[in-house]
Amino acid sequence: MMSVIEGSPGEVKLLLGNEAIARGALEAGISVATAYPGTPSTEIVETLAEVGERYGVYVEWSTNEKVALEIAIGASMMGLRALTAMKHVGVNVASDPLMSLGYTGVVGGLVIVTADDPNAHSSQNEQDNRIYGLHSYIPVFEPSSPQEAKDMVRDLYDLSEKYSTAVFLRTTTRLSHSRGEVTLGELRGAGREPRFHRDPERWALLPPYNLVKHREAVNRIKRLEEDLSSFKYNWVEPGDSMVAVVAVGATYAYVKEAVSKLGVKPTIFKLSSTYPVPRGFAVKALSYERLLVVEELEPFVEKELKVIAFEEGMKPEIHGKDLLPRVGELSTALVAQAIAKFLGVPYEPPRTYTPGVELPRRPPVLCAGCGHRSTYYAVKLAAARARVKPVYANDIGCYTLGFYPPFEMADFTWSMGSALGIGMGISKFSKEPVIAFIGDSTFYHAGIPGLINAVYNRIPLVVVVMDNGITAMTGHQPHPGSGFGPAGEPRPVVKIEDIAKAVGVEFVEVVDAYDVPAVRDAVERAIRYVVEKSRPAVVVSRRPCALMELRRKRLSGERVVPYYVDQERCVRCGICVDKFSCPAIVREEDGRVVILPEVCVGCGVCATICPAKAIHPVGGSSG
Ligand code: SF4
Ligand code: SF4
Repeated sequence: MMSVIEGSPGEVKLLLGNEAIARGALEAGISVATAYPGTPSTEIVETLAEVGERYGVYVEWSTNEKVALEIAIGASMMGLRALTAMKHVGVNVASDPLMSLGYTGVVGGLVIVTADDPNAHSSQNEQDNRIYGLHSYIPVFEPSSPQEAKDMVRDLYDLSEKYSTAVFLRTTTRLSHSRGEVTLGELRGAGREPRFHRDPERWALLPPYNLVKHREAVNRIKRLEEDLSSFKYNWVEPGDSMVAVVAVGATYAYVKEAVSKLGVKPTIFKLSSTYPVPRGFAVKALSYERLLVVEELEPFVEKELKVIAFEEGMKPEIHGKDLLPRVGELSTALVAQAIAKFLGVPYEPPRTYTPGVELPRRPPVLCAGCGHRSTYYAVKLAAARARVKPVYANDIGCYTLGFYPPFEMADFTWSMGSALGIGMGISKFSKEPVIAFIGDSTFYHAGIPGLINAVYNRIPLVVVVMDNGITAMTGHQPHPGSGFGPAGEPRPVVKIEDIAKAVGVEFVEVVDAYDVPAVRDAVERAIRYVVEKSRPAVVVSRRPCALMELRRKRLSGERVVPYYVDQERCVRCGICVDKFSCPAIVREEDGRVVILPEVCVGCGVCATICPAKAIHPVGGSSG
């Protein structure tokens, strides 16, 4: 089937920012694309996975972002063009090789997409990764629309090779996930002959050479600082006064809309090369009497401009974060408000409709039929049986939803793999056991070193791996335990329990997540083992993701049989609705508990936990 990014040059397509980036990479003739899925970056490599085989591109979902970047670096050493994409916090994971990449530079063009998430829509923070560019001597570019993202990615490969440097393409959620018309360009085709560019002095980061390479990195950035003044994605739109607005990357769209709403015409400096800020371009902007810098999150360009103004002895009035928030996403309204203040013109913010009634709060919930729910439920029972009040360490994934009622089983959630790492730090000093929840994908990503540490240092810790066979939270990308690859082709399965045993965990049990008594008993045994032996124990609670199962059943024509509550038998104890909380089970106004057949996926777990045996499959026995 033809992918959305395929088509002839000149054809116009409606593409997501992320799809446009994928197309740009194809047009540039990449040979390799790697990623660990993470919102808002996921669709880039997901799209490339659909077409990779047809265009000779090797595409992989890597176990984590560090590995993804390392594979891209290796391909670049072979003279091939490579792309690696990650969400902003993923760059933290990749930062070790990244910092050295800034020294060595590249052979084949290398684009690192950092998809930042202002407002932390689906992230643990909203860090501004332009600072990584500054830190690693890797230039940063920010497109303002899907069309520009596509074209810029294509051109950045040439720039990357010309200056022998990796480059960052920084996007934000708005750009990654908004659609725009994109005119397709020529596909250059991968077609390069891979050849290892042997150069030990360059690639071996050893003391005699490192200062030389550091100096080269500094010089490279200096050169770019001059040359990027003529970068075609930076431009000036003259206005009618000596005031200017510097629109950085994706904020350009907000600025354009805001000035048109306000009916004002300041000069607009559209800046897409944010690190280094090109000096010639900056000096032109600084020659205006007053400047407003519009950028999301940190005052990155604002500070650079202030430094350049100081060095050049220029004294314009520079505004930025004094008029715009440093926290959260920008919007046309916020930008219009700031420009109005800056220009001293009136502005009436748009009125928002607030309903007169308070809507009920709806915390995010685990899906109907999710194996994580039955696991949480069973672990709670196990802790009660073992008479312990565990510290619940939770990791990053769908199961983070265990934070919310009714489970409230996340005393902390930090970053990938931290349930084990921080959990161990607590466990060393805690009188109560620590139970760490980690998902399958997160286990492969960053859980294994923590587990090895627990074994080696004999740290007591119950690790419950909630294994649903897929990276579910980001949209079902496969991982080493899934048994298939990016294009759905069969792959070997790397089993979590085999890894746990191989690294020396003595207590390893695998249970069916739907079998509440089995999970309860296994976790209870694990708690007792950990308390007695002061060593880690692993329980793998396994069931395929309920959404995947539903899709599989629908595709294979298998019938989904919903469950119902036999009102004659129900004693209205509320266990199924209040303590287990499957979203398919609701309490009616008259107090009856019923199951919504259109939401129920027929997992049957509620039937096993109902003390009155009042829940049955539709059409099944009620006796
Ligand atoms: S658990 Fe069973 S008895 Fe209790 S409310 Fe639900 S259906 Fe009724
Ligand atoms: S069978 Fe019960 S637990 Fe499973 S989805 Fe239906 S209502 Fe929810």
